[in-house]
Amino acid sequence: MRLLAALALLLGSGCATVPPATPGALVVRNVSVIDPAAGAVRPGQTIRVEGERIVAVGPSRAVAARGARVIDGSGKYVVPGLWDMHTHLSGWGFGRAFPMLVANGVLGVRDMGNPDMAAPRAASEQVKAGAIPSVRFFAAGLRLDGPTNPLFTSRLIVATPEEGRAAVRGKVEEGAPFIKIMARLDKPTFMAIAEEAKARSIRFAGHLPAPVSAIEAADAGMWTIEHGFRMPECDEGKSCPALTETTEALKRNGVWLVPTMAAEDGQVRVYSAAIPAEQRALITQEGRETWAKQDAINSQFYPPVPERLKAFSAGVAGGLRMTAILHKHGVKLLAGTDLGGPGTLPGFSLHRQLELLVQAGLSPLEALRAATSNPVAALGLEKDLGRVEAGKYADFLILNRNPLEDITATNDIHGVVANGRPYIGVDRRSLLTPSGSGTRA
Ligand SMILES: [Zn+2]
Repeated sequence: MRLLAALALLLGSGCATVPPATPGALVVRNVSVIDPAAGAVRPGQTIRVEGERIVAVGPSRAVAARGARVIDGSGKYVVPGLWDMHTHLSGWGFGRAFPMLVANGVLGVRDMGNPDMAAPRAASEQVKAGAIPSVRFFAAGLRLDGPTNPLFTSRLIVATPEEGRAAVRGKVEEGAPFIKIMARLDKPTFMAIAEEAKARSIRFAGHLPAPVSAIEAADAGMWTIEHGFRMPECDEGKSCPALTETTEALKRNGVWLVPTMAAEDGQVRVYSAAIPAEQRALITQEGRETWAKQDAINSQFYPPVPERLKAFSAGVAGGLRMTAILHKHGVKLLAGTDLGGPGTLPGFSLHRQLELLVQAGLSPLEALRAATSNPVAALGLEKDLGRVEAGKYADFLILNRNPLEDITATNDIHGVVANGRPYIGVDRRSLLTPSGSGTRA
């Protein structure tokens, strides 16, 4: 699979040139380790990290602290690194987003569309050189869309099945780990893309085009569906065969859904001036420009600001409703934020999305899975990530409270270990200084 080839590159990056404070060894003592996939909490554990890997996890008396920097984990909880499965990092600048992501414990992202592959490749090089903290990422590059509103830029326009097939071959040639599609594809072009993607072993993900039903998309092999889609209208409490048929098709084909209420919630925060000053101070020039561009688009659809506020509040409510229904029907969910849009901030928005998932009816454990074990399973990375256990890459958060009791605890961070490198106290805070690059000299 192309994804695995790309992965070899990504997992190999980021640590060789950034040794931990004590060469090769870091120990977190006497901590509760949460395994989201198993739904287990193991108290009294000690974790030993050497280089980029976890080498031992076990009862505290059984794991040696010899020669290591020791962090006392008493009363704290460790969870695997978080993933944001829907970002647009070019809206912030990859290099500028990474320190903020790591400070928030978001150690993996799937980037759902950026103008070209140059920015992600440059970020990969910067991580390798130790210039920016390690975030594992998969970037789709240019998105495929049908003939569209000229306001929407950075798309590869494909208007016929032939153009769709050629575009898939082009993405394979440029080394894209997967393909992102947009909503304006016509049905024959969508189906041609699906067929060609299958033939070339490359996955495709994105918006559900208007002429294609979720059932058709699922049966055609779509990997993930983003934001949402038109769901059959059903009366509360009554049986609804059309809805059951849709959710059964999603489950039968293993399709993941990526609701992104944090995106509309971000817009609500902009239009109601609700972004805290310390977060506002972190907005990059690129971020400001991207937000302004989106605001110009919004103003075409909803001229006065109160109308925009109303529209995006309704968007949050709609996303919550859809998520609740999908969850109730057992559809698999991934946490995503559409980071890059107005009011979204790298890392911060993922914590907000976790809160919104719980508001939609997921338990804190289920929400945590949507950002840890589910993304790792969707990406096929179970061998290396998703659990805090011996042999895995050392990507984890040390939390001050138990997130299974209250999901906002994911945001109460004592420290983050990214690819074996600890960010605790001042090291972590320095990732969030507005001018800082987040690296030590
Ligand atoms: Zn998006």
